[in-house]
Amino acid sequence: MASVTLKHLTKTYPNGFISVDDVSLHIDDGEFVVFHGPSGCGKSTILRMIGGLEDITSGEIWLGDDLLNDILPRDRRLAMAFQNYTLYRHFNAYDNIALGLRLRDLPRTVIDSRVKTAAKFFGLTDLLDKKIRSLSDADKQRVALSRAVVCQPKVLLVDEDFARQDDARRIEMLADIQAINREYHITVLYVTNKYDEVVELGKKTVFMKDGKITDIRQ
Ligand code: ADP
Ligand code: MG
Repeated sequence: MASVTLKHLTKTYPNGFISVDDVSLHIDDGEFVVFHGPSGCGKSTILRMIGGLEDITSGEIWLGDDLLNDILPRDRRLAMAFQNYTLYRHFNAYDNIALGLRLRDLPRTVIDSRVKTAAKFFGLTDLLDKKIRSLSDADKQRVALSRAVVCQPKVLLVDEDFARQDDARRIEMLADIQAINREYHITVLYVTNKYDEVVELGKKTVFMKDGKITDIRQ
């Protein structure tokens, strides 16, 4: 079960600023949910708390039946696609995609099969031997998404920085992420401050302002 439930989630920074203010929300297994609101309304803070990159001040985050609060980020079965995804420029695409699997000490044959399946899905099969520095930005982004899905996360978190690309690539990336949601049955939380994207995607959208949810539209 990969539903995500936030219960009274709150983040107060040391300076007293409340960035996320008592947010409660349930996202079903396999849903694609968009978070939309002006810059500074707390969207990234929510993703970072779910991902475990930011401490929770109070409240609970559940992934299915598991309370995530005390689970280490690496054990959360989540993948994060943020702007600063670290690809190793001097490694080839294959090694970059395999990285997370190698950290998990999986058998070489399992790693190989998962990397090749993901590469095929993203049209990277012929680029696996290529060094990252020689790939286009679009292909680098696909390598980052491949790396995320091979670890078989239950949830994919996508922050808007990741999507900030030229228009053509942005549309392709939205298609890639929707395909991941559909084909891999991974729940997706997608953050954007662009209303056109909300309209374009036509998914369930959580509207936020000043750290609070103001509306949820299907
Ligand atoms: P969004 O992603 O919606 O643009 P963020 O979640 O990044 O918004 O930030 C929410 C608010 O929290 C912003 O007003 C930001 O200035 C504030 N904030 C972020 N980090 C800190 C921090 N370390 N200390 C104080 N305030 C912070
Ligand atoms: Mg943000």
